[in-house]
Amino acid sequence: MGTVHLVGAGPGDPDLLTLRAARLLMSVPLIVHDGLVSTEILAMARSDARLVSVAKSRSRHSMPQDEINALLVREARAGRDVVRLKGGDPFIFGRGGEEAEACRAAGVAVEIVPGITSALGAAAAAQVPLTHRDHASIVSFVAGQCKGLSEQDWAGLAGKGRTLVIFMGVATSASIAEKLMADGLSPGTPVAVIENATRADMRVLRAPLAGLAGLVERERVKSPALIVIGEVAAEPDTSVRALALEIAR
Ligand code: SAH
Repeated sequence: MGTVHLVGAGPGDPDLLTLRAARLLMSVPLIVHDGLVSTEILAMARSDARLVSVAKSRSRHSMPQDEINALLVREARAGRDVVRLKGGDPFIFGRGGEEAEACRAAGVAVEIVPGITSALGAAAAAQVPLTHRDHASIVSFVAGQCKGLSEQDWAGLAGKGRTLVIFMGVATSASIAEKLMADGLSPGTPVAVIENATRADMRVLRAPLAGLAGLVERERVKSPALIVIGEVAAEPDTSVRALALEIAR
């Protein structure tokens, strides 16, 4: 029997892979990956490895989840070690839980290799500290895709002293902003949108909450992007910093 390794590939930059992820990538005969995994990372695979894309996007499912589960189980039963490679971390909005369950139910050994979730990669790359002694001591990760958005209770997740990070929220950014303002969040709350974090084409865009939908539309923000809401997302005050540096000199 082979083992299924559920591996986090991080946010995109190959330098942000764990050593465990890199070692597995370079050694297994089969890699089953989703659309968020960058080509530079896939290029690290063994030259004779088989790469299977099961890319998912909001509007297009190239392989249904139960077929992915069945593929992992079938290959492991055939004696192959499989890397199931996912963007970011497998257990943060990555369906890693479902795939691990399917493997265990079929008696297949499964290992989880954590990755740097895009929330942490994006925050680092954009220099947005998710917690800060002056601004935030609570961080929440939420999924912003359409299904059931209005029924989700986000009250208390954003506001003073809190940072809210929204995954999969580009398409629904207008409803997200409305929902948060209806919950009492100030329209002036700082928002940063981080697109293609840690990749060469990364963009960091900012607006107050009330301007989020307009920003996404005007700048044609595309997935993958994260929306960070809270004081920590404010533009760093470079004038103050420059002055401090000037004085220090
Ligand atoms: N398991 C992944 C999340 C998968 S859900 C993780 O831990 O990061 C897919 C969402 O992740 C995207 O819609 C986007 O919101 C976010 N995302 C993934 N990679 C990203 C990147 N490089 N830059 C910005 N957002 C990213």
